[in-house]
Amino acid sequence: MRTAVVVGAGLGGLAAAGALARSGWRVTLLERADRVRPEPTAVVLWPNGVRALHALGLGAGLDAIATPLPDGGVRRPDGHWLVQARPTPAERMPVVVHREDLHDALIAGLGDRVELRTGVAVDTVRVGPGERPAVGAGRQLVEADLLVAADGTDSQVRRQLAPEAAVVSSGCAAWRAVIPWYRAPRLTTDRPVGGEVLGAGYRFVAASLGERGSSGASRRGGIYWVATAVGASRPEPPETQLALLKRWYAGWPAPVGELLDATDPADLVQQEVRELRPLPRAYGFPAGPGGAVLLGDAAHAMPPHLGQGACLAFEDAATLSSLLRESRLPDAVRAYDRLRRPRAATVVRQTRRMSAVLQARGRLALRARDAALGTISPRLLSTAATAAAQWRPPTS
Ligand SMILES: Cc1cc2nc3c(=O)[nH]c(=O)nc-3n(C[C@H](O)[C@H](O)[C@H](O)COP(=O)(O)OP(=O)(O)OC[C@H]3O[C@@H](n4cnc5c(N)ncnc54)[C@H](O)[C@@H]3O)c2cc1C
Repeated sequence: MRTAVVVGAGLGGLAAAGALARSGWRVTLLERADRVRPEPTAVVLWPNGVRALHALGLGAGLDAIATPLPDGGVRRPDGHWLVQARPTPAERMPVVVHREDLHDALIAGLGDRVELRTGVAVDTVRVGPGERPAVGAGRQLVEADLLVAADGTDSQVRRQLAPEAAVVSSGCAAWRAVIPWYRAPRLTTDRPVGGEVLGAGYRFVAASLGERGSSGASRRGGIYWVATAVGASRPEPPETQLALLKRWYAGWPAPVGELLDATDPADLVQQEVRELRPLPRAYGFPAGPGGAVLLGDAAHAMPPHLGQGACLAFEDAATLSSLLRESRLPDAVRAYDRLRRPRAATVVRQTRRMSAVLQARGRLALRARDAALGTISPRLLSTAATAAAQWRPPTS
């Protein structure tokens, strides 16, 4: 039986480990944390991410926990429309999912061929000609035919296999929360909350998770919001961070103020936004009869402006699993590298163009940014949405 070691049990590692196990591989999944626990936030999945989850055999579970996210348009803080809301064809409509629900679905997909070892921080990597790949954690050494590095932005495995890639700050920080319905009684109930507000260096996006009062599959419904602000993450306690957010976003159009008022400091998840720059020169490393691959943020961490990080991680997992069904292992590793590098490079390029537009500050830059948002950004968003919608797993 073919064996794989997957490093990291985030969204990407769980998806890859489950897919390999369902194709008959025996998988060891190593996770540094003591428990596999997702953040209590949500994630937007674009059609490519949804299609990848379907290709991984997880589509039915996803349908039960996902809420469609209609295009809510983009406004300025004074309420002026930069991009009007438009009806979105069903095949281009993203969905929003609570990360805990997504994790549950991915964990359920692991089956009994995955041995999950938590509290194991990989610190050494062996990938060389003529040798089976292996990773070490303290005194443990785990050898396998295939090594999947899904250990996130600070990947230890990538540091060794692709030392040219560097982790840098994207120049902004993000705050997220999911507010249960009962804590936001004043928000409209007749249509989904959605849409985006964009100011000088600040952005706020909100989305409904399920419907108020619905008895759907998810018990974690409510309203998800994410705020991005240019600058470093804040060292103060969550109460102070929330007070700062309320000052920064004061006077922004509804429902921004209501959502911040309904947020409990304990709900707040803050994160410095970081990215890989440059990207690794390779994503696949054939080694002897097997090889290693980089997957998810370990391969292509990027700012969340187009909501594509997790989507690409699922594409990676679906591509890998499809190639491994069709080809011998070292050939599949080479093909994975060939297919995934240009794909990730395209999405990262689109994301960086959005970063430049979103982070424009100063009056001149702002005027240029508003003009860009009115003309370039709808085109850019539509190109990104088209690229997202068009992706197919290699053999489907
Ligand atoms: C504010 C924000 C909003 C976002 N919104 C979206 C969105 O709407 N849509 C979208 O598609 N994407 C979004 N993303 C991106 C998405 O969250 C990530 O791309 C995705 O979670 C990456 O998953 P991963 O499994 O590759 O990495 P991670 O989630 O980072 O998982 C890596 C795992 O590896 C473990 N690990 C690390 N080092 C080791 C080691 N040495 N040994 C063992 N284990 C190790 C970690 O503990 C972790 O569990 C967003 C990101 C941010 C910051």
